[in-house]
Parts: sequence; C-alpha cells; structure tokens
Amino acid sequence: MISQQTTAEVLSQLIAFDTTSRNSNLELIDYVREVLKPFGVDIELTFDRDRNKANLFATLGGGSAPGVVLSGHTDVVPVTGQDWSLDPFQSEIRGERMFGRGTCDMKGYIAACLTKVEDILEADLATPVHFAFSYDEEVGCVGVTDLLEELKKKPVQPRACIIGEPTSMKVIRAHKGMLFKRCCIHGKSAHSSLVDQGVNAITVAARIIANIDSIQKRIQEEGPFDAGFNPPYTTLHSGVIRGGTVNNIIPSYCEFEFEIRNLPEQSPWPLFREVEDFANALLPDMHRISGETGIDWHAIADYPGMDTPVDDKLIAEISGLLGTSSVPGKVSYGTEGGHFQSAGIPTIICGPGNIEQAHKPDEFIDLDQLNQCDRFLSTLIESLHKLPE
Ligand SMILES: [Zn+2]
Repeated sequence: MISQQTTAEVLSQLIAFDTTSRNSNLELIDYVREVLKPFGVDIELTFDRDRNKANLFATLGGGSAPGVVLSGHTDVVPVTGQDWSLDPFQSEIRGERMFGRGTCDMKGYIAACLTKVEDILEADLATPVHFAFSYDEEVGCVGVTDLLEELKKKPVQPRACIIGEPTSMKVIRAHKGMLFKRCCIHGKSAHSSLVDQGVNAITVAARIIANIDSIQKRIQEEGPFDAGFNPPYTTLHSGVIRGGTVNNIIPSYCEFEFEIRNLPEQSPWPLFREVEDFANALLPDMHRISGETGIDWHAIADYPGMDTPVDDKLIAEISGLLGTSSVPGKVSYGTEGGHFQSAGIPTIICGPGNIEQAHKPDEFIDLDQLNQCDRFLSTLIESLHKLPE
C-alpha cells in the first residue's frame, strides 16, 4: 500500500523510470494508475499524437465544490553530456540528500502527492483534490495544454492550482513567459572565392543574431523593468546554431534557435516581429543573387507568463498553511503555471527542492525538503473543508 511507503521510497521508484522528455512516460503513468487503482480513483488520460506519452488527471474525493489541483510534470531533462558521478536513474541517498535525475525537478512533489492518497480519501473532503501530472514540460510546457483543454469542458472548474516545481517550499506567485523559435536561412552555395555568386546563410544568421543581441541590450537599458525578477527585464537569447560544411564552400543553409523570456506584463510578440522585420529587410539583397533564397521561422514552444496578484486569496491561504509571512516571490524560469492561470485557475508555485540543483549533473534533493513538502500537503488536506456529518 502506497500509504505505508515514505515519500523518499516512492521518489526512488519514480526516478527509476527514465522519463527524459524524448522518451515515453507511459510506464510511470501506469505506476501512478496502479497506485490509485485500489482506491477506485477517477483517472483521465490525455495522450500525445503518437499515444507514446500521456498526462494523467485524477480526482480524489467527492464533493461538488471546486477542487484544488496539485500539478507536476513527469518528464526530466537529458543527462547526455553531463558528468554524473552516480547512476542518474538509480537513486542514491548520501547523507541527508537523495541523488538522481528528477529528484529535485520534480518527481519529489509527485512522490509526496502519491503518499497522501489515502489521507485525502479518508478525510472525506468537500473539496476534491486533483492530481495533474503532465508530459513534455521540459520542452516548453507542451503536454499540459491538452490536459487543460479537457479540464475546460468540466462543469466545475478548480479553484486553485499548486505547481510543485522546486521553490525550496516558498510561495512563488509569478514567472516569465517564453517564446521559443527556430530560424532557418536558405542561402546559395558557391565556391568560397566567388562571394558575389553566393548567399552566405551563416552570415545572414549572424546578422539576425546580432540584431537579437542589440534588442536585448536596449531592453536592459530602457526596460520595462520589474524588480521582482532576476534579471528585472525581458531577455532574448540564442543558444543553438548549425550551418556550413567546409570552409571553402559558401554555406547554403544555416539555422539557429532563440528564445524570448518575457515579463508577464510584456508581450513577446512585438519583439519577435521586430526580429522578423529586421530579417525581412535582408531578403532583397539575398533575392538579387538567387530567388531561391529565403528565411523561415518555426514555432518550437511558447507559454504565457504567470502573475497571480499579490492580494489573491490563494496566496494568503497557502502562506498561512506554510506559516510564512514573507512576500511571495517571482522567478525567471517557466512553469505550467502560466497555462493554468490563463485557463482561469488561480495558481501558485510551491514545491520541494532548490532550483539551483535542477537540470544539473548529480541532481539532488535535501531529504528535509521532502519532509517539509509532506507536512505542507498534510496541512493542506486538513484545511480543506470536511463534508457535514
Ligand atoms: Zn520542472
């Protein structure tokens, strides 16, 4: 029985599923289904197109009142190219820490939720608790959108969502949004000596990337600013470029990826249009040499920022349960919270582990963070109103 296991024990089992985003997460989802099965919990799955991955949405406890969603992503970032001193998918406790991919980001929260199943059901709550466990969060919060589409069809919408991303169990009320694009440049190949006959795709990419950088510098100087974020402005960044074959051929193709991480109050789209306009202005020169040349853009991912008002009653409620009076923070990394908030569900982020350890080799979580999360969830469950006798 799940209730007889500690959160660390369940976490250790979850770590053993290699749910790197490129892989299927169905074995982990089956594990969760097996955990919930003896309790007759209502489970809904939403699959990706290939039915290779699924989101799980479970409703625990009856009651027609709007529920509370406990949300976590099941996927983890790759370990490829990282220097691990232990097996990333075989958890290991050393001292007061558990090591393994996903310990911190963010299977610890999912494990804590699972160990509370019996408590939730026995508490006979008027307010149902929902588990929303998604896929493909780490590739741009992609999976959860289908889960939310299904959720929107329900007659009663949840009144709150708690995203368990690692915040060291502090309340976070806002994060930046993100727009993630790939730019593909089709140039014209020629011998490297014949510069007047070719269109160097790498050079075109370099110009656009330099433009992205100059927009970044402008924003850094002129804002808009929000001191709650670090850094306190929207950021633009290009992190991948591919192009060219050998140095004595003018490259006919180059592609690069870039992202805009926007303050919740600043739309990324005008900034993207600015980059696009700059690129379009390069086209006449390219076309003069060859009509086959061009620049195209591909959407990779995007998710909205999250900005739950500081006076939202959910913040007071969760801060009260945690016994904290500190002002809820803002973070620059993204979560599925923006999607939940956009769906009209008041959302905060609060989960075990320190974001500093996320995505790193030898990722770990302090066992005390799991204990704190256990206590928080138990207090939360107690706080949800019981059905009248
Ligand atoms: Zn995460």
